Amino acid sequence: MGGNTAVSDFLHTLNQQTTGEVRTDAYSRILYSTDASIYQVQPHGVLIPQTVDDVQAAVELAAKYQVPVLGRTAGSSLAGQAVNEALIIDFTRHLDQILEINPEEKWVRVQPGIVLDALNEQLRPYGLKYGPDPASSNRAAMGGIVSNNSTGAHSILYGMTADHVLEMNVILNDGSTAHFAPLTEAEVALKLKGNGRDAQIARAIHQLTQNPAHQAIIREGTPRHWRRCGGYNLDRFVPDGVTFQWPRDPRFNLAKLVCGAEGTLAIITDIKLNLVPRPTRSALAVVHFDSLFTALTAVPIILETGPTAVEVLDHYGLTLCREVPEYARLLDGFIEGDPNCVLITEFYGESEAELKDKVAKLQTHLNGQMVPVTAVVPAYTPQLQADVWKVRKVGLGLLMSIKGDYKPIPFIEDAAVPVEHLAEYVTKVEQFCHDIGTNVAYYAHASAGCLHIRPLINTKKAEEVAKLPQITRFSVELLKGYGGAFSSEHG
Ligand SMILES: Cc1cc2nc3c(=O)[nH]c(=O)nc-3n(C[C@H](O)[C@H](O)[C@H](O)COP(=O)(O)OP(=O)(O)OC[C@H]3O[C@@H](n4cnc5c(N)ncnc54)[C@H](O)[C@@H]3O)c2cc1C
Repeated sequence: MGGNTAVSDFLHTLNQQTTGEVRTDAYSRILYSTDASIYQVQPHGVLIPQTVDDVQAAVELAAKYQVPVLGRTAGSSLAGQAVNEALIIDFTRHLDQILEINPEEKWVRVQPGIVLDALNEQLRPYGLKYGPDPASSNRAAMGGIVSNNSTGAHSILYGMTADHVLEMNVILNDGSTAHFAPLTEAEVALKLKGNGRDAQIARAIHQLTQNPAHQAIIREGTPRHWRRCGGYNLDRFVPDGVTFQWPRDPRFNLAKLVCGAEGTLAIITDIKLNLVPRPTRSALAVVHFDSLFTALTAVPIILETGPTAVEVLDHYGLTLCREVPEYARLLDGFIEGDPNCVLITEFYGESEAELKDKVAKLQTHLNGQMVPVTAVVPAYTPQLQADVWKVRKVGLGLLMSIKGDYKPIPFIEDAAVPVEHLAEYVTKVEQFCHDIGTNVAYYAHASAGCLHIRPLINTKKAEEVAKLPQITRFSVELLKGYGGAFSSEHG
């Protein structure tokens, strides 16, 4: 990294040359020093580019002055990847457009700053949408979603973002530009003979991933569970032996590597994304339980009925919602009695009759398997379903607003295990936390074995902070045994 003089010379020169806005004031640097994680790091400055040329010129200049750069969109990341001692390049202000839609071939080309919900709204008239659906979709933008390899409640249906990234244009660390796309074998051979920085990178990655000894290491080091997004996606370059939820495109494509790299390999300037048909109709079955363990044990049984999502709303979430009149009213529409937790189980279908049949089959299956549910409340109308999802989505915000110094802290929350191990994994982590005097809260994607576990820690006390590595070590050891992944969507 450049020293202080290099950094201020860099920022000064950048300010003179760019048509974008360069911010170095204390307010902006503090504003961009946080994301949704537990980390806080002040950037050197912030660039709000007007054009892709601004971005390219900034990266080239940063290379000259040896100053790090970091792309950023909504800054809603939960693992600290949107903050750094770097020049932050914020794409959300001006580089947030759809560049091209091809409804016949079901793809769209977008700039990084476009927010996912806004993109999906514009795709609605075509009956299409972007598949993976992080819960933060009302602010998360495609640059961050792609760089984090995000996914969401429908991951059992659509897999990971890396499954849907087709091509991208990027700026490499020397300021040169490159287009990454799937290549045929003949195209790969040609690329490997090239001279540019992109050819150099292609050669290095090709050598690394085509060597059988390296392939064995990549297979060995890749968690068995398909829901994973930690580390670089080298697993996408080995021919077999690793699991994916969505069929893997076997062609050599460096866009798959930049996806999930959290801004460390290249700055993305536009992305071509696969689209999926928008479901015609959906229904929910809100399955009530009197314990979280029973609920999690039931998930594999529920999955046998072909749902499109199974999400947990836990005891904390339900209790906190009841304390807010707006959400308490919504709960009245789909909660019966006083369950410990519910599994929000969703089905897609073409008609109401088909959906009613699916919910009925779920109930029959649960009865047949002697699953001790306390109620199953269906939601067929769009309004009631929207209410259920609203409550599910506000859950985390409410958790964060728990009064007092003990807050649900995200540090092991993104782990995922094959779903058949979920109940056992969660019970063991909960027991470990209780043994050291710590309560835990939960939310998220039971269907995919990803239950976000947030221990309640008082970060104002050193002895409480000391629990973070303790709990992390325990969780990581357990995960290894289950073939789980420490990070499954947050990076
Ligand atoms: C309440 C809440 C719920 C969440 N739920 C989910 C969920 O269900 N699933 C999930 O996956 N995540 C979830 N997240 C985490 C986060 O919102 C997502 O990972 C989201 O995709 C990040 O998007 P962003 O626009 O905020 O990206 P940012 O945080 O701005 O950036 C993310 C990464 O992308 C890089 N980046 C951004 N733009 C570029 C670019 N142009 N070129 C290169 N690198 C770039 C950044 O450097 C950073 O490393 C949640 C977060 C919150 C706060």
